Amino acid sequence: MLDVQCLSKVYKTGKRALNGIDMIIDRPQVVAIIGSSGAGKSTFIRCINRLVEPTSGRILLNGKDIVALDRKDLRSARRRIGMIFQEYNLVERLTVMQNVLSGRLGYVSLFASLRYRFPAEDIRAAFELLDRVGLAGYQDRRADALSGGQRQRVGIARALMQRPDLLLLDEPTASLDPKTSRQIMRLVGELVAERKTPAIINIHDVALAKSHADRIVGLSEGALVFDDTPDQLTDAA
Ligand code: ADP
Ligand code: ADP
Repeated sequence: MLDVQCLSKVYKTGKRALNGIDMIIDRPQVVAIIGSSGAGKSTFIRCINRLVEPTSGRILLNGKDIVALDRKDLRSARRRIGMIFQEYNLVERLTVMQNVLSGRLGYVSLFASLRYRFPAEDIRAAFELLDRVGLAGYQDRRADALSGGQRQRVGIARALMQRPDLLLLDEPTASLDPKTSRQIMRLVGELVAERKTPAIINIHDVALAKSHADRIVGLSEGALVFDDTPDQLTDAA
């Protein structure tokens, strides 16, 4: 599914943020990336969809090297990667339904979401997803009228509208209270199993990672220092 080979990133400042990371994900699982601030977690996740340009290395997603793609192929590859952010990135003035449907476009645009006529099967899929993430009946609410947990559920539904091969979640619970954070992590775990889509989650809360991830990858100063199941973490830490 995903095969990261010797991935390195040196920023223009000279900062080496990633130093030869190797990681294979060969089954649907929740992989939590942990590490202290500045360890390279965000750089790692952003390299995978090339929001950050890797300096060297390969990122094979279902056999295709994302690092080598030109602009046009990168755009279609990104449609196969569902991205979920800390700050949700919803279009505030659009409804829940419009935000979820925008996942089919592969990008978020107020104009395009309003203008494009989505086929009936997309609308049906969006209703099903809203139901699945616990937002049945919320389709006509405006995004800016939702709580943080509800917004993140919309973000997850939108990402799944892409029918992604991989989910990337960048600190998805950092703006949420502990109880809501656990609910969101549980939902992500269930969806990964149901849809057989692996997820990589940046998370600074180690306890949350331990209780909800199938696998923990620890980064320190741009190097991979731990890669095992959560129950092994106590021995290593
Ligand atoms: P790249 O090497 O991927 O092109 P850049 O080095 O151009 O990235 O950095 C992108 C932007 O981020 C620049 O404006 C840079 O000043 C800024 N930046 C520099 N240091 C940091 C940092 N520690 N954290 C976040 N952004 C930073
Ligand atoms: P984490 O997500 O684990 O906190 P980051 O990936 O954000 O770590 O950052 C890793 C290192 O790279 C840090 O030292 C950070 O300051 C630096 N860094 C991040 N973004 C940039 C940038 N755009 N330009 C220069 N340095 C950066």
